[in-house]
Amino acid sequence: METIIVKGIVLSSYDYKEKDKLVEVFTAELGKITAVIKGCKAPNAKLKFAFQPFCFAEFSIIRQGKFYQIIDAKLIDSFFDLTYDLSTYYLSNVILEVSSVSVDFEEQNPKLFILLANALKNICYDNLPAHLVTAKFCEDVMNMLGYKISFYKCTNCNMPYTNKVFLNLDSGEFVCASCKNENSISVSNQAFALLKILASTDYERLGTVKIAENVAKEAIIALCKNMEHRLLKILHSYKFI
Ligand SMILES: [Zn+2]
Repeated sequence: METIIVKGIVLSSYDYKEKDKLVEVFTAELGKITAVIKGCKAPNAKLKFAFQPFCFAEFSIIRQGKFYQIIDAKLIDSFFDLTYDLSTYYLSNVILEVSSVSVDFEEQNPKLFILLANALKNICYDNLPAHLVTAKFCEDVMNMLGYKISFYKCTNCNMPYTNKVFLNLDSGEFVCASCKNENSISVSNQAFALLKILASTDYERLGTVKIAENVAKEAIIALCKNMEHRLLKILHSYKFI
């Protein structure tokens, strides 16, 4: 059986059978894959580190029917510090989940892989504010998927926004007060303005954006809901931030 070497970041993991774990890994080479790690739950198991979310490693994998099996892993970075602070941890989980729902299994997307690795690095080592990195990451992913936010005109009627902005939960689009329906939620002007600022600010400069954390969180929640309705997928992680 051929062994494939891939670089990947663990997005999530689940118990599988008595001693195994099933992990979802986003790899640079194969895109998102599901892989089993056998016998890794024992306290002294060699691959115990390899099923932790955020684990960035070089994985040796073989194909096992529908799944892959991870037979070895060399740790590149555990991004362990992301788990140190609860708020940072929950925000970083949004980054993992958004990455997961943005691609189908084995759909290669090296650009998203780099975006993901850099976002985790920015929070873990570059001391950039986790709420702003997460908000910008969500926005970048939506742009990459072709859902660029229209900041000046309502997506529905094409008229400039005059007052409040709403997020239409049927279409996942941002709309004006005249176009909102009963299934629309309002987005504060501050949160919408932040999305506009983030779109033109590089990650390295996020430290210069002064904005209340709750505004950034509102922006993240709006983007996640936007994404849910655009992609018809359910996200859980933003409910914890
Ligand atoms: Zn409108």
